[in-house]
Amino acid sequence: MRSKLVVGNWKMNGGLAANEHLLRGLAGSTGGGMQRPLAVCVPFPYLAQAQAILAGSAVAWGAQDVSEHASGAHTGDVAASMLADFGCRYVIVGHSERRQAHGESDALVGAKARAALGAGLTPIVCVGETLAEREAGSTEAVVLRQLGAVLEAVGRDAAQCVYAYEPVWAIGTGRTATPEVAQAVHARLRARLSDANAGDVAVLYGGSVKAANAAPLFGMPDIDGGLVGGACLDLDEFLGIART
Ligand code: PEP
Repeated sequence: MRSKLVVGNWKMNGGLAANEHLLRGLAGSTGGGMQRPLAVCVPFPYLAQAQAILAGSAVAWGAQDVSEHASGAHTGDVAASMLADFGCRYVIVGHSERRQAHGESDALVGAKARAALGAGLTPIVCVGETLAEREAGSTEAVVLRQLGAVLEAVGRDAAQCVYAYEPVWAIGTGRTATPEVAQAVHARLRARLSDANAGDVAVLYGGSVKAANAAPLFGMPDIDGGLVGGACLDLDEFLGIART
């Protein structure tokens, strides 16, 4: 049975007061009507706040990046063991904003996924093509290349990861992939994951998901939930997605 999941990616948003409202709302909302497990990936400085408020609730928390290194002279980086210290269950790796703005390679994303697993965290591995790549007809080649690098790095632990298809042209643009377009990519990813004995893992869709468009996306056979950016900052909107 495949797990279902909705994960909020706060990106570089938040502040202690605003977070308090959001996190308490999430912690208090679990139970009646909630259908999908929920998690939020918050900026590093707010992990302690997320832990303090969400501990004991049904909502998990995590981070948005992790170092591939265990410790040492890596100024500004955060090790997986540190995330584990703050009770993180998840960490996003390979988000397109990190691939693009920080030059993260496929191999580095794989190393980060491996480091996360080593600390007992579940990496949420993001893959996705740019608009230019889609228009050039290379969507499948790109996402399979990105996925392949992670599968190579994590080996037998492929089934311990969560995966997210996030077409870059749909992130933060308000332009969502149609359910059929997303499903076609998810099916291809699922086939590759099955080859790696990980066919039952959760594969999330991300890219301008809102309460209003989540149902047809989540209704697709190979879409197990969502990785949600902008809409997760609004409590009602995020809960609306989780209840889809
Ligand atoms: C994301 O950042 O992972 C994302 C999907 O963003 P948005 O929902 O805002 O498109």
